[in-house]
Amino acid sequence: MAACVISLHQRRNRGPPVCSCKQLGDCKGSAAETRRNSRVRCLSLKQSCAIRVGAFDNEVCVYFRVLLANANELIEMQTMNSTTDPRSGSTFYERYHSLDDIYHWINKTRQDNPDTVEAILIGSSYEKRPLYALKLSLNNSMNKKAMWIDCGIHAREWIAPAFCLWFVQYVKITDIMDNMDVYILPVMNPDGYHYTWATNRMWRKNRSVSKSSKCIGVDLNRNFDANWCTEGASHEPCTEIYCGAFPESEPESQAVANFLRSHKDSVQLYLSMHSYSQMLLFPYSCTLDEAENHNDLMVQEAAQLIRRHYRNIYKYGSGSKTIYLAPGGSDDWAYNLGIKYSFTFELQDRGRYGFLLPPSHISRACNEALIASILITIYIPHDLDYTNSVFTFFALNMSIKEPG
Ligand SMILES: [Zn+2]
Repeated sequence: MAACVISLHQRRNRGPPVCSCKQLGDCKGSAAETRRNSRVRCLSLKQSCAIRVGAFDNEVCVYFRVLLANANELIEMQTMNSTTDPRSGSTFYERYHSLDDIYHWINKTRQDNPDTVEAILIGSSYEKRPLYALKLSLNNSMNKKAMWIDCGIHAREWIAPAFCLWFVQYVKITDIMDNMDVYILPVMNPDGYHYTWATNRMWRKNRSVSKSSKCIGVDLNRNFDANWCTEGASHEPCTEIYCGAFPESEPESQAVANFLRSHKDSVQLYLSMHSYSQMLLFPYSCTLDEAENHNDLMVQEAAQLIRRHYRNIYKYGSGSKTIYLAPGGSDDWAYNLGIKYSFTFELQDRGRYGFLLPPSHISRACNEALIASILITIYIPHDLDYTNSVFTFFALNMSIKEPG
């Protein structure tokens, strides 16, 4: 299939080169599609194209090297399952799944584990799809602490819901649930996620209709009440970082906020899963100020653990200083609510495949994030031997298949 065609205009002595997308019919599913009809800076296209510009004999020569020339093949590969590809040796958890499949999995997980898994309906999406959070709990002892994980706020980050499923499957072999309940929302943005399977693989926002614009969708991770819609978000509905009409204007963010407000006495740890870029981020993203417990949140041990066992590098630090200012995010909001251990994980990779991470990378990407999340629970006051938990995980993990 044709790759995205990107034209680059070098205006000599008039600032940096400017790229624009042409022949949009060829762009379907590529990283550049979301930039259609707009002029974009070369930097923002780096995820799909490396562009070099050189001047020879007073003429400007432009070279393109399209790294994801096979973007459509990659997308096809991502949507394969055991039915379409019965020869695939991958397990259920090593593949991406449609929204219907995930709802089916939620139901089956609940039915198969009636004593430990409960599905809680915490709200519904703009298009009225249910938002189910699973509660994993071994016992009902009093004053139990809890952790919250959400996946897939951003629709195109498919590795995130894959992680939530992975977590539920493998958390059983750790000690986490002995003293802690786990609430886990596998798909926080079901409308957007469905849209990435049905129509546009690169969709990011939810699918709500704006009163003031033809453009669809709000960036749910700009819609929380944490320095809402200041620098790093936009009031313009056509942008990818549209903050919505007001804080918690979207049913998805409101459902999560309501649930956490009503469980804030027990929830001690908040994790939000995104991709890509391999980072372990913590508050603040909405301001350059340091969080009160900044030093406690510096999770270098988790990054080191990943590096030691998977030879993969994760950056860590506050969101605003590690990436950019991003107000209205769920992690900052949860932190301000009183959940003092609040993290956003950016999973694999660092840009080669970006959002189109092949299924063969799922197990490694999820295991990295899993050991980091296990280790981070060490930071929460408790009397568990989590070092042992991580050790147990590795001992058992030896048998988990890992593509090279
Ligand atoms: Zn994201």
